[in-house]
Amino acid sequence: MTRIDFIPLSGAAQMGANAFVLRVDGCDILLDLGATSAKAPGWLAQLARPSLLWISHVHWDHLGALPHVLERFGPLPALATAATVELAPLALASALGLRNKALARAQAMARCLRPMAPRTYYELSDIVRGQKVPSMRLMAFEAGHMLGAAMLLIEIDRPEQPPFRVLYSGDFCTHDQPIVAGASIPRPTADFQVDVFICEGVLSGDGAADVVDYEVEMARLSTACNGHQGPRLVAVAALGESCEITAALAGQGVDLIVHDYLRPLFEVYGRHRPQAFSKPPRFGDARLCRQMLEAHGLVIAAGDQLQPTTMAGELAGELVENPQAQITLTNRVYAQTPAGKLLARQAGQRAQVEHYRLPTHAPRWQIVETVRALSPRKVVLVHGPKSDLYRLRKALAAVVEAGDVVVAINGQSLELG
Ligand SMILES: [Zn+2]
Ligand SMILES: [Zn+2]
Repeated sequence: MTRIDFIPLSGAAQMGANAFVLRVDGCDILLDLGATSAKAPGWLAQLARPSLLWISHVHWDHLGALPHVLERFGPLPALATAATVELAPLALASALGLRNKALARAQAMARCLRPMAPRTYYELSDIVRGQKVPSMRLMAFEAGHMLGAAMLLIEIDRPEQPPFRVLYSGDFCTHDQPIVAGASIPRPTADFQVDVFICEGVLSGDGAADVVDYEVEMARLSTACNGHQGPRLVAVAALGESCEITAALAGQGVDLIVHDYLRPLFEVYGRHRPQAFSKPPRFGDARLCRQMLEAHGLVIAAGDQLQPTTMAGELAGELVENPQAQITLTNRVYAQTPAGKLLARQAGQRAQVEHYRLPTHAPRWQIVETVRALSPRKVVLVHGPKSDLYRLRKALAAVVEAGDVVVAINGQSLELG
């Protein structure tokens, strides 16, 4: 008998850092290693030495604990897609705020990551050399969401039975963005059945995300930016969104400057998606960005909540009294942040503030469609507000009639097989 357990350490029935252990006959694969700050996350105390790390993508709630995991256990074999391997040092360097030699230190940390081609089987025994591990294979599937994001299929051999397959979604969406295409999800066949689908539900309770048409919303944003005559600032989340919005605007022929801070990210996107930009965007330092705004041009800068420590926050602060200016915000805008206050017009601003929803997670209807297409025996819901996941569970129960749907709870081990 092969014993397979799923042990959520963090990020199960909650938003926040993701860390899940898949234990196969005592061999642990750590699915994501997220944090919520630069500090070591609490879940690390519950982690036994894993045989393998899987990093689904470079957002901090999936990657952020890498420095702490490596510090505690020393070098460990780790898998990610090639784009994630390239993006990881940038994400680590910017989030850790390492000023001197930031990139060099982050690159050293990311050196344990081994790039994995999508839709290709990797034998665990080939990756984890010198360790005796159960017979299993791993395969990555593009997950949409952002460049490099991938689902992980774990195919476990069992004596006298077909292999047991677990698919971990990480963050995903099935709609196309201007650069990154929607998730490519495996289709079940007579010989290929997913037994357990571990599925994220970040947006599962967001009714507004459920009705938004990403393409229409992006076109609306482009038209509004294009049609405006005054200085325009588009505040973006660095990882993912910045490149997608720039590609959409540049595709419309909008003359724009991207703040320098984002340049290394664009270089990775450019290498992996050479068709992304018909011509490479222009980059500029703070001085050039300000000149562009004075000339009533458009600037793209990082800082999605307009925190004053970010370039977008600084520039927004300078534009806020200008009745000719347009400030564009996207996605989640939290009430207590400078962006939230601007959107609620609490800041007494005179600039025009625009808000667009460009979801990069699967809204509820996509989750339902994905589960229907996969028709797994069991669905395990993670990474979402608890009450939303319980509501999603009800909706999915009708879809997986023959199986069951559970909401995972941190610290509670689930026996999968
Ligand atoms: Zn993410
Ligand atoms: Zn996430």
